[in-house]
Amino acid sequence: MNPDSIRDVVAVDGPAGAGKSTVARRVAKTLGYAFLDTGAMYRATTWWALHQGIDLDDPAALAASTRAMDLDLSEEDGVQRVAVNGQDVTAAIRSPEITRQIHKLDGIPAVRACLVDLQRAFGAKGPTVAEGRDIGTVVFPKAKCKVYMDASLEQRARRRAADLESRGVRVDLDALREEIRVRDEKNMTRKESPLRRADDAILVDTTDLTLDQVVEKVAALAREAL
Ligand code: C5P
Repeated sequence: MNPDSIRDVVAVDGPAGAGKSTVARRVAKTLGYAFLDTGAMYRATTWWALHQGIDLDDPAALAASTRAMDLDLSEEDGVQRVAVNGQDVTAAIRSPEITRQIHKLDGIPAVRACLVDLQRAFGAKGPTVAEGRDIGTVVFPKAKCKVYMDASLEQRARRRAADLESRGVRVDLDALREEIRVRDEKNMTRKESPLRRADDAILVDTTDLTLDQVVEKVAALAREAL
């Protein structure tokens, strides 16, 4: 599939906790576009590898397990559901254990190639708001609208903590802040598809904005571009 032909995309990239997921989902709803959470795909791939007892230090085995995985993203009552080989993993993929292990496979070219193919197939079906780390740089380089969402580390850690707590996960803010910092660094310095702002992406700093303000801003940028 030629990625250059997929243009009706709002690409939302940025570091962990910038609010990408919530914003992208709401912007998709506002515009009547499909929503694609690519982080959920890397999470599900990690869950599947762990579930199968695959050695996370074995890139060839991880690539094979990714190719063999049947990943299904669907929406039910406005909530995204993720299933792997028929098993609902929506909640399981958000565990701190999964978050800690993703970096073992997110730098493997064959794993990324497989997921990027699925992402492009999704985007080719119709207008999409996609969020992740490499959407505007690699997955949909010709997306009509590209946004890079960022916020201070402190603010992002607080938002992540609130999010986890709302799902019943107890968190230590200092540990979480450090974990996010390390994860960002890994995402930005990895060789394969590092997190970076695409040259044509518009920076949206969400540190001092409410969720509604960010949604409004991104939706306005999208309307203008599309
Ligand atoms: O966005 P989320 O926190 O769910 O992403 C989880 C992890 O998946 C990221 O920290 C990153 O390691 C990986 N990821 C990636 N490329 C994407 C989306 C996520 O490498 N497009």
